[in-house]
Formats: sequence, C-alpha cells, structure tokens
Amino acid sequence: MQRIYLDNAATTALDPDVLDAMLPYLLQHPGNPSSAHSIGREARLAVETARKSVAVQLGAKANEIFFTSSGTESNNMVIASAIRDLHVAHIITSPIEHHAVLHTIEQYARQYNVTFSFVQLDETGHVELRDLKRQLLDCNQRVLVSLMHANNEIGNLLDIEAVGNLCRRYNALFHSDCVQTVGHYPIDLSQLYVNFISASAHKFHGPKGSGLLYVHQNNPIKSLIYGGAQERGLRAGTENVAGIVGFAKALELSMSHAPYIRELKAYLVAKLEGVRFNGDPSGLYTVLNVGFPKRMENILFELDLKGICVSGGSACSSGESQSHVLRQLPHTDETVNVRFSFSKFNTAAEIVQVAQTIKAIYG
Ligand code: PLP
Repeated sequence: MQRIYLDNAATTALDPDVLDAMLPYLLQHPGNPSSAHSIGREARLAVETARKSVAVQLGAKANEIFFTSSGTESNNMVIASAIRDLHVAHIITSPIEHHAVLHTIEQYARQYNVTFSFVQLDETGHVELRDLKRQLLDCNQRVLVSLMHANNEIGNLLDIEAVGNLCRRYNALFHSDCVQTVGHYPIDLSQLYVNFISASAHKFHGPKGSGLLYVHQNNPIKSLIYGGAQERGLRAGTENVAGIVGFAKALELSMSHAPYIRELKAYLVAKLEGVRFNGDPSGLYTVLNVGFPKRMENILFELDLKGICVSGGSACSSGESQSHVLRQLPHTDETVNVRFSFSKFNTAAEIVQVAQTIKAIYG
C-alpha cells in the first residue's frame, strides 16, 4: 500500500539535497570543530559557514545565531535565561503555545517565584492585541512576552511585527517560537523588534535534532548546559556538524515551494464537505485543522488503516484526551478534529485520494 503522509507539522521528510550536503560531514570530514588540527578546522569552517548562511537568510548577525538540539531546547534556553540572567519577573504568554513553552514557563516560574499570565484570544484563537497592550501597561516588573509565530495545531499566524512594536514600546523582552514558520515564511529579523526566536530544521526538510536559537546581541544570556565553550559559551557540547550543515541547506531550499503547498491546502479545503475549520484556515499554509461530525469519531484510525497518516493535534501531546489548543476554541468539543499538514512532497493526486477515502468511509 502506498502511504500518504499529511503530518508535516509533526515532522517533514529529509530533502535528498540536504542529505547530500550533510553526508561529507558524516563520512569524509569527521572532525571536532574544537580541534586545532586541519580536520578539526574543516568541521569548524562548515559550522561557521552554516551560521553565516542562516544569519543572512534570517536578517541576523552571525553572532546572534546559536545552534541547539531542537526547538524544545531553544525554548527552554530562552525562558530559563530570561528569568535567571535578564531578571524577568513576569511572563505573558498564551494558553495555546507549544508545551515546550508552556511546561517550561510553569517549571521555571515555580522554581524562581516568577508570575505568568495568559493573553486573551478571540473566537478563532488569535491573540487579542488590546489585551496584550493592557497587560504590558499594567505590569511594572521586567516582562518577557512569549508568543508563537504560528500555531502548530490550528495554523493561526501572529502579527509578529505588531507584537514586537508593543514590546518595544513597553520595554518588554519578546520571544517568538518560530518553529512552524522559519523555513516557510521569509523572516527578516533586522526589521523586527524580537529578542529571541526558536526554530527547528526537521520542520522544513532538514534533519531531526538540529535546532536554532536567535538571541539579539543586546541580551547577554548564559549557558544552561555546563561544559565546554562551544557556541561562544552559550551551549556546551560538541557541535552536531552534519545537523548544522543540514539546517543551513534546508533553510536555503525550503521557501520556494510555498505557492505549491498553498494550492494543495486550498484543494483540500475545496474538496471537504460538511466540515468546520478550526482556528483560522487562512493562516499557516502548511496546516489545516478540520472539525468533522461526531459520527466520524474513528476517522484517524480509519484513515491510518487506509495508509493515510494525519493527526489529532501536536505529536508531542498525543496522549491528551483533547488538545490544550482546541480546548481554547468554542465548539471544538462538538466535532472530531483532524490536523492535515502539507509539504512539497505531497501531490494533488494524494489530496484527491484523501477526500475520496473519507467519502467512501462516511458517505
Ligand atoms: N514549537 C512548536 C510550535 C512546534 O511545533 C514544535 C514541534 O512540534 C516544537 C516547538 C518543538 O520542536 P522540536 O521538535 O524541535 O523539539
């Protein structure tokens, strides 16, 4: 059976061109970038070339780019260091952030006696900017705002520029979890007020285990992991050279397929009947969250039997009875909710097959 993979918000397949760029650093150039000899220097050159390339693509300076193991690690670093090193005493976030943000805030807030609050959302899950402004105005402590650029379950996009402007105006630090947008949308950090962003290569056809943290140069944070002086002292541990090379190559290749993927999503929207779309279907072009009638409660299982891989929400929260994101939206308990997420490796024929399979099972 030819399977259809429509769970690209969970992870994407490695692009063969990315693998080609990585292979030499797994085979011919095995050096440790910290070694002073020529084989070590080859590895160092690869890491620093990747850093420059990523910095150029994101409108950042090379010394603002730090490679990590994942989006999760990057989110942890920002939240912990903002409290510990930058004296943040209050965090404003949203109830629909990824658990890599929410659970981290809960943990460090408890540990350091820091408070946090949630910004209000409208009916479709968009951040209410007026409420954010009110909370910033009311708070006279050092604040970190942590709001994701795009939601991984419902695809809502944040007006990152407007949030940045509010944070600048009220002197708050701003972190955006950009794990679902880096590699999918052009992001020019030189034009935005944002102090930190997190990203992850496996969301845009790069390797798993390769993340990024952008730290604007005015924010001196310290390492969470103690050991060597890698990543200019911010992250100890021998660099994942092939993973870093893969990050840069994937970022270089990823964006050009946006119009094609957008069409696939629009095609599925047009083919589905009698459904409701959760969140804002005009948001992230890689994600469509669909509410099917309750009688279709086994749809995930039925589709899986037919070789169609989709999900009920975030892969990291697959044990939850109802997603913490959908719980924030009205009426989502009245439907069976399925996240379809697309990539350049999907085809229109697959979309037709998915729509036909749903029709064949449920009429
Ligand atoms: N943030 C968001 C919005 C995500 O979608 C994910 C992955 O699902 C993460 C963070 C975690 O990234 P990683 O899988 O690299 O740890």
